[in-house]
Amino acid sequence: LQEGNIVIIGSGLIGRSWAMVFASGGFKVKLYDIVQEQVSTALVDIRRQMEELQKSEMLRGKLSVEEQLKLISGCSDLKTALEGALHIQECVPENLDIKQKIFSEIDLLIGDSTILGSSTSCLSPTSMFNGLKHVKNCIVAHPVNPPYFVPLVELVPHPQTELATVDRTYHLMKRIGQSPVKIMKETDGFVLNRLQYAVISEAWRLVQDGVISPRDVDIVMSEGLGMRYAFLGPLETAHLNADGFKSYCERYGEGINRVLTTFGSVPDFTGKTAEKIDTALWEDLPNKDEQLITRREWRNSCLSHLAKLKEKM
Ligand code: NAD
Repeated sequence: LQEGNIVIIGSGLIGRSWAMVFASGGFKVKLYDIVQEQVSTALVDIRRQMEELQKSEMLRGKLSVEEQLKLISGCSDLKTALEGALHIQECVPENLDIKQKIFSEIDLLIGDSTILGSSTSCLSPTSMFNGLKHVKNCIVAHPVNPPYFVPLVELVPHPQTELATVDRTYHLMKRIGQSPVKIMKETDGFVLNRLQYAVISEAWRLVQDGVISPRDVDIVMSEGLGMRYAFLGPLETAHLNADGFKSYCERYGEGINRVLTTFGSVPDFTGKTAEKIDTALWEDLPNKDEQLITRREWRNSCLSHLAKLKEKM
């Protein structure tokens, strides 16, 4: 893998997390944002996050907090930020116009050896990268929130993305301890969200049909399916639940098919069911913001412990 800087474009939630992940892998990181204040806030926030991680022994990588912090610097000028860039990770808001605009600016400032990765959650590579001079260097590298604790990165090429771009990005992600997967062609929602939406959609229908409460459907996942899924995917789970996947299909295929035909239509995610789920998920406490913050911190702590456990297995 070539050496060079990592440039993060957009220093919000995901940009900060990427910066920390790359620094934990020993890379020099330049943080750029259209709002200069965001960069200063990001640097302060990254220090705070790293110090907290250190305290709870959850800091990633072999370098100390100070060593990692030294690798990250802010930059207020796009051209300067991009000098010597090995990989650019774009993290601006999920808006096609904003993405297209920043990509066309970057396109004029980079050479052939820089890779341009986008963190987009659901915009297609075609819609974002069409017409760029460096389209062969462009790729979606979609992280999962929070990327510091959840390592998956979906790599989605534009039809004109070079194989070398996919391979270089794949190896870079491996090197920083993430888990990349190569998605072979564009598909709406990529793969993680397609799977997630299938689950959300059936959870919605079960609640709507009065089969189960919102809280209990979440328990089915966290205490049931999710226990396996932290280690095995649905396909290997099936493989192990019989004598191989084909045997699973022979034994259970007909039953699965029967159940699947009872699935209802695609929900529109409005109305009474949304109200019911929302009400069930809030605790009976006055401060909603505080509830979310506390619960997110708890989630991050659980995920970091799980990541440690998975490392040991
Ligand atoms: P955010 O709103 O927290 O941060 C966006 C940052 O981009 C802000 O600091 C903003 O000032 C900056 N920005 C806006 N226009 C810019 C420009 N032209 N040049 C440079 N900086 C600019 O957003 P986020 O949640 O970090 O999301 C960033 C991207 O990551 C989105 O595409 C999102 O879909 C994707 N993503 C988000 C999550 C998530 O859970 N938040 C998960 C995976 C992927």
